[in-house]
Order: sequence, then structure tokens, then C-alpha cells
Amino acid sequence: MIRLGDGVQFLKGVGPARAETLAKRGIVTLENLINYLPFRYEDRTRFCSIREIIPGQTYTLRVQVVEGQAMRYARSRNAVYHLIVEDKTGRLHCRFFHGGFMEGRYKAGQELILYGKVDFDPNRPARLEMINPQVEALGTDPADSTEVGRIVPVYEAIGPISSRTLRRIIRQALEALPADFPDRLPTEICKRYNFPGAREALLFVHFPPQTESLEKLNSFRSPAHLRLIFEEFFFYELSLALRRKNLQHQPGIAFRVREPAVRDALKRILPFKPTGAQKRVLGEIASDLERTTPMNRLLEGDVGSGKTIVALEAAAIVIENGYQAALMAPTEILAVQHFLSARRIFARSGYGIELLISGLKTATKRSALANIRTGKAQLVIGTHAIIEEGVAFHRLGLVIVDEQHRFGVLQRKQLMDKGRMPDVLVMTATPIPRTLALTLFGDLDTSIIDEMPPGRTPIETRVVDDSGLAGAWESVRREIAGGHQAYVVYPVIQESKAELKAAITEYDRLSRDVFPKLKVGLLHGRMRSEEKESVMGTFRAGKLDILVSTTVIEVGVDVPNATVMVIEHADRFGLAQLHQLRGRIGRGGGKSVCILVGPKNSTGEARERLDAMVRTSNGFEIAEVDLKLRGPGEFFGTRQHGVLGFHIANPLRDRELLELARREAFALVENEEARVKLDLLLSQLDPPWRRRYQLAQVG
Ligand code: ADP
Ligand code: MG
Repeated sequence: MIRLGDGVQFLKGVGPARAETLAKRGIVTLENLINYLPFRYEDRTRFCSIREIIPGQTYTLRVQVVEGQAMRYARSRNAVYHLIVEDKTGRLHCRFFHGGFMEGRYKAGQELILYGKVDFDPNRPARLEMINPQVEALGTDPADSTEVGRIVPVYEAIGPISSRTLRRIIRQALEALPADFPDRLPTEICKRYNFPGAREALLFVHFPPQTESLEKLNSFRSPAHLRLIFEEFFFYELSLALRRKNLQHQPGIAFRVREPAVRDALKRILPFKPTGAQKRVLGEIASDLERTTPMNRLLEGDVGSGKTIVALEAAAIVIENGYQAALMAPTEILAVQHFLSARRIFARSGYGIELLISGLKTATKRSALANIRTGKAQLVIGTHAIIEEGVAFHRLGLVIVDEQHRFGVLQRKQLMDKGRMPDVLVMTATPIPRTLALTLFGDLDTSIIDEMPPGRTPIETRVVDDSGLAGAWESVRREIAGGHQAYVVYPVIQESKAELKAAITEYDRLSRDVFPKLKVGLLHGRMRSEEKESVMGTFRAGKLDILVSTTVIEVGVDVPNATVMVIEHADRFGLAQLHQLRGRIGRGGGKSVCILVGPKNSTGEARERLDAMVRTSNGFEIAEVDLKLRGPGEFFGTRQHGVLGFHIANPLRDRELLELARREAFALVENEEARVKLDLLLSQLDPPWRRRYQLAQVG
């Protein structure tokens, strides 16, 4: 008898090599394996015949190989593999790009299942073809009933382990599912939503009965899918809820906020009248600071909405109370910029402010570290250099993390550990749709600055192709003649095979041929920190007219006098990136122009991105479009498998279930008796399950 806790190598067909491949995906035990779920289903009860095919549609076909051959074309390095297949009604041509490796794989007469879209061959319009179909070779073993004649689960291949192999070994593992397989969802919840039990749900999603509709299965809307999705969200939200509850029980620092001395300090630093939103948000932060439980707050605000001053005011409160504040920025440029504006804003306060980045000279660094240790440094601004081991604070009271999406939860935790239960403020300029904010930052309270400082004129955004470039340079000249400055942005630093214009070469060309009379500077990520800072400083001081740059200026750079931006190869940038880049202009009173240079007929997703940029400058709207175009995984820049580490749940597709799971989890945690049971439950989970459910717990 095999048991669920056994290693996968006990299964027939899993040797040491396959076991190792699976282990890399976190699949060690049978229990792990049965939680590897199909991403798609095929109806293999009946197949479409080749004669019935309609171009433009997607089909599953059962065919025989006529012949297959890889062909190399004179000017292309990559071979194309051609495969001709047939059934009783006709023949079909298939092409596999980059398919050189498939040479010799299929023999005439072999039976295959193909899944893919059929269309006209653009070179021979009378011929139909299937491009890059998914192929599954059918076994010769007639006893194997999992391949055809039913609704068949399709798994994402794991390295060299194909969907078909996975189907076979998962089938074996499922046969080991004991009748009393533990159900981890609380029974009341299962009942309330009419969810099937854990065992039933797992059997169903792997090998659904013939009666279930294919459409429901493929949209993950069968009752079994709903349950498993809910379950994943539920435990994730539960860990957030527990974390939040635990923090509330920790004694934090109760700062005094209402003293006249503190109020005076705040008034002294305000360089302008705060907007209503800034006032409201500062109020929320101040009352958190006053409370004995530690603050754990997310500050969301579009680019340019004025988050920095709010954060510095929070720092001032803490400093006036005799504590230190630390601000961690994602890049050196940004850290230096925060440092400079903090020095300006606190000029009359006389606070000790220290900059800590990795590029410091040894002596400077040593003195900075000493000041941080003794408390002479009241505000410490830096990059992740702040969380390094050698950095010790005297009395850290507030941690501010800027642009959170670049830091992990873990780094936030490391910085918190430098103090004893300091208050935490996380700032992000990525407008995150609400439900997703809940999954990502569900343990944080949220404040939103939803109002721009006064006097901003909207940015005019245009899309042009290369023929419009001369006009773009004309706009640049005009702005500079009016006393303003310009950014010109390129997707890459150096020329590469991709035939993209590069910052370094274009900088040469622009300064020599296009703008010989203007002062042009160059900024990119491969320059040394001092070089970068010196260029930024010169540009900030107005001593450069044009800054040619890569995306290093994407985050937070603040030069209000810059009023025009030209982005070449704009189709190569992501939407969030374009929005961030554009946020570098339109920061002063002047009218600003953003010119996106793209190919003449950009199509599809690239077109949609550029159109969205022209249509709106509202960060939340842009985020919604971006999310739709890219999906949540890419949206957050997490290329990890699955969306934010979920196996089956997708926060975008399953918003309702997420909200539901959140409500149930948070309610449960409020219930004292249930919580004890849950803590126990969580502590009993196997390590892989802990990893699966408690990914939020690391913070
Ligand atoms: P964010 O960090 O949210 O992108 P910043 O804090 O850098 O935005 O602010 C953008 C610009 O707006 C800065 O130049 C800042 O000095 C200015 N600013 C912020 N708040 C106000 C305000 N209430 N009135 C006028 N200007 C403001
Ligand atoms: Mg900022």
C-alpha cells in the first residue's frame, strides 16, 4: 500500500531523474503531486475530422503521422519542423517554429493527438495548416484508458516530463487517496457554500466525469474547482489575518502627536499647503503613530501625488519623540533624491540626516554607521544597504519603505527587525486594483492619496512613428527655448542584435547631429553611482537641457522643470513602465508633452498600451488595463510559477472567491475559540503545505 506522505519515486514510471525534476517544482510526496492540477481539459470522446475543419478555429484532432521533417532556410538560423498528418477524411500540414529538435521524433503511422488553431497558410492560401500545436503521442497500450474516450486533463509539462506522463503518475497517486483523506476547510464553511469535500474535489478536477461541461471545467467553474480555489485563498488570507492579529497584540511605541512642539515642527517643514488628501492621510498616519499597537500601513498614491512630504512629516513626528526614522528606497538615484529633499525640507529643523548607499567611501560609511548607532542620525535614508547586517540603530521608531513592489515582504521584515516593533509605512506608486491590493497587502491598512497637488496641467500625449521624429525634436527645442528641460528615453543601454536604438549611441548622435548647440547628458544603469549622481545633480540644477536615459529614471525622479519626454520604441515598454516614465514630467506648473515613438502599424497589445496612454493619465485606469493585458503575475513582476505563488487560484479571475475567502478568514480569526483550533491546524501541516498556505507568513 502506498501512502500520501510517501515520496513520488514509489510510483511506477518515476525514477531518480524524474523524482529530481519534480522536486525542483516542490513536488516531493504523493500529496504534493495530487495538488498539481490540470490547466486545461480536452474532450476526447469524439474528435473533429480533418474535412470538417473551419479555418480560424481551435481543434483537438486524432491523427496519424504521414511524415515529418525539419527544414532549415538559408537566411534563418532556426529550423522549422514540418509535420504532415492524416485521418480518414484528409491530410493536414503542421508547422513548428524553432522545431529543429523535433527531427526524427515521429514515425509514419504513429497516432497523435493535436491541439491547436487551424488557419490558412499565408504562403499558400489554398492550404490549411496548424501552427505550433500541442502534441501528444498516443500509447500503444490499449489498457490505458486515461488518454482517449473521455474528458482528458492536460497538465503543464514539468521540464522533460510531459502532460501524458504526469497524467499517468497522478492517476496512480490518486488511487492511493484514502477514504478518510483529511479535509482542511472548516466544515461549517464547506456546508455554507455547498463545496464538495477535499477528496471528492481532487478526484473530480483530475479526472472529471463525462457529465461535466467542458466549458465549466476550462473556465475553472466546476464546484470542485471553486472549492479548491477558495481553499487556497482561504489559507492565504488566514495567514494574513493571523499576522495582523498577532501584530495587534504586540506592544508598539505610542508616539505623542498632539504636543505643541510636535505641531510646530510639522508646520515648520511644510513648503506648501497640503492637499485635502494629504491632510486626511497624514491624519490617518498620525492616529496610528499615537496608538500603542504598531502601525502597519500602505500609502498608495499615483506618481506625483505628493507622498514624499507625507512620509517626511511622519518621520518628523517620530524624531520629535526622540526616535529614529529610516526610509528605504529601491534605487540609489531615488535614495539620493529623497536625501536631498529631506535636507531641504528639514533645513530649519536641524535634524541629523544620514545617507546610506553601497557606493559610499569607506570613511564616509564608517561615520554614517557610527551616527546611526549612537542616534545622532535621526533620519536615515538609503537603499537596501540599510538592512545589511552591520547596520545597527540606536532607537528605530519608524520604517518607511518606498515603492514597495520592488522589495519583498522579507526585506520589510528585515528592516523592522532593526528596531523593537517600529511603526511601518509602505509607499507605492503602482495603483493596485482593490482586490489585488487585498491579496498582496492584506495585512496592511490602506491610505490613498487620490488628489493631485494644485496647478498641474494635464500632460498631452501623442503617438508618432519614425517619420514624426523630426517633429518630436522640434517640440524638444521649443520647450528648451522656453527655459525647460527634456528627457529622451531608450529601451536599452547598448546596441544589440535586437536592432533597438540604444541610449549610448543615440546620446552620441543626438548631441552631435540633432542638438549640437544644447547641453545633453547621459544616464543609464551601468554607470557607477557617483557618475549617475553627478549627472542627475547637473540635470536637477538645470545645467543640462536634455537627459538621454534608460528606465533608470522610471521611479520617483523629481525635476519639475522638465516638461517634455520623448520615448523611443515605446511599444517595447510595459504600460506601468510608460506611466511611471511619463510621471517624470508634468510636475511643475508648465504644460508638458509626452511623445511616444512606435512602429508605424503597431498592432495588438502594443497598440492597446499606447492607446491607453493617450486616453488617460489616471493611474488606476492604467493599472486596470495593464492587468487585463498582462495578467496579475506579470503585472506584479513576479515571474514565479502561478499567480503570486497560487496553484490554481487566480486573484484576477477569481475576485469574488477571494473576497469571500477573505471575509471568512478574517471573521474566523476574530473568533477566539476557532483561532486556537486554526493555529493548531496550521502547525500540523506538512512543510510543503505550510509553504503553500503560509506564503504570507514570512512577513
Ligand atoms: P510622489 O512621491 O507621490 O510621486 P512627490 O512627493 O515626489 O510625489 O511630489 C511630486 C511633486 O509635487 C514634488 O515636486 C512636490 O514638491 C510637489 N508637491 C507635493 N505636494 C504638494 C502640494 N500640496 N502642493 C504643491 N506641490 C506639492
Ligand atoms: Mg515618490
